[in-house]
Amino acid sequence: MQVCRGCLAARDAPLAQDLKGLFWRKGKGFINGGQKKFFHSIFNTMRYVIYARKSSESEERQILSIEAQLAELQEYSAKEKLEIVASFQEAQTAKEPGRIKFAEMLSFLQSGKAEGILSWHPDRLARNSIDGGQIIYLLDTGKIKDLKFPTHWFENTPQGKFMLNIAFGQSKYYVDNLSENIKRGHRAKLRKGIWPSFAPLGYTNNHKTRDIDADLEKAPLVRKGFELYSTGKYTLKQIAKIWKDLGLRSYKGNVLAISCVQRILKSTFYYGIFEFKGETYQGSHEPLISKKLFDECQEVMKDRGHIMTRKSENFFPFRGLLTCGECSCMITAETQKGHNYYRCTKKKSVCNQKYVREELLTEQVKSFLQKVSLPSQDTEKVLHELDKDEQKAREDSKIIVVNLKSELVDVETRLDKLLSAYLDEVITSEEYAAQKQKMIDHRIELKEKIREIEDKGVSWLEPARAWVKSLNQADILLSSGDKAEMTTFLKQIGSNHILFDKSFSFSPKKPFQILAEWRLCRREVELDFLQNSNWRCLLDKVRNYFEQNPND
Ligand SMILES: [Zn+2]
Repeated sequence: MQVCRGCLAARDAPLAQDLKGLFWRKGKGFINGGQKKFFHSIFNTMRYVIYARKSSESEERQILSIEAQLAELQEYSAKEKLEIVASFQEAQTAKEPGRIKFAEMLSFLQSGKAEGILSWHPDRLARNSIDGGQIIYLLDTGKIKDLKFPTHWFENTPQGKFMLNIAFGQSKYYVDNLSENIKRGHRAKLRKGIWPSFAPLGYTNNHKTRDIDADLEKAPLVRKGFELYSTGKYTLKQIAKIWKDLGLRSYKGNVLAISCVQRILKSTFYYGIFEFKGETYQGSHEPLISKKLFDECQEVMKDRGHIMTRKSENFFPFRGLLTCGECSCMITAETQKGHNYYRCTKKKSVCNQKYVREELLTEQVKSFLQKVSLPSQDTEKVLHELDKDEQKAREDSKIIVVNLKSELVDVETRLDKLLSAYLDEVITSEEYAAQKQKMIDHRIELKEKIREIEDKGVSWLEPARAWVKSLNQADILLSSGDKAEMTTFLKQIGSNHILFDKSFSFSPKKPFQILAEWRLCRREVELDFLQNSNWRCLLDKVRNYFEQNPND
């Protein structure tokens, strides 16, 4: 359908979407693309591009949005009857050179597809010296013939260009001054220990006092998160979920991502310290948490991986402890219908061993622990007894050393006398040599004995003490029932842990063996070995063992 020029011209100012594909022709009204080309070739009128820019900076809040700018510019172009051939919109700030749409617009103009720019204000076009210079240069070289601003007068004359330069310069001055003001504000705030930026979650920027205040609603939730995390029972994911359920949201109203949760839990800001541009400041804001709580959270975060592996061990507490008594393969574990089963991996050869339920294994481990356990109050008594032993041993060895030393002095004197006798020619040199050798050997023996007693007179004591304490640990394990700890304990006190025909056995270290056997044969008569007068004999047996093997 042919568009009638007259009809179009008669229409009132049209809406923006009505302008699509249509062009305004000065004196002719709206025309379509083909007509435009035709007119342009005859009259060679000015073609304009629209340039609109909105930066995201907060200082520009008062600036019109891109949509508002475009609406204003379209209205203006309609009123002024400008021919618009392209439109460029940019969200990037003009402070730094390198705007994409701006560069596109310039090359569009340089290629001769348009001769003029329509923009809201010169500060939309250029806010740094390079952009401004480029525009002026294109005006000088005739690539740009006209600029139109609804808010600024411009004419392509020396005077107009001079005014434009001032307008460009003004916006640059504004930007420079603003950032200088911001920096000055930052320095002043930092001196007072005030975080100079956007308040972290849990705090708010107080615009009156310019301080950072605790957010009465969010602060307790943030604190709660730290407290829960510090217990080590929650993962970051769980904390994120808890915060979500409690209604804690970011400033934009979003649910916190796990990375964000981690950032919060790692932020020293919450106990009062912050870093700004590589320097640490003691904040003046109210801390939400203590340094201690913060440190605890950091420990948990550091140990997180470790705890995860511990958890999987807990799942199969005896895995990694046992080998198969038939084929000596490792014993592995699996879950069947809610029960843990242990079985041979059967990797080496044919093996006829069957599954063992964890409960059965636990019973056997416990029955061994029973044999070597010592209740806390009894442990105290035995340790006290050992203290007395130590004292007595030290006194005994002191007496022995004194005796040995006097004997040594005696040998020295006799050696002296022997020499005198030889010098006085009372004895022959052969007699002297034979006697002397005997005495010197004796002297060496004595010295060695003294050193031995002084060095390790009570070397058995520490291993014996450690042994008594581990007996108490067995008792604690029996009441706690912690199977993973039992595994650790069994590894410590013995070796060769075997599962054979559904029964568990291993080689405990000698002192444990002594105790287990000793209890076994006394089981009927006396379970508590402290109440039996013979327990002293057992302790001596163990002590004797440690005297021989102090490193066991
Ligand atoms: Zn096997």
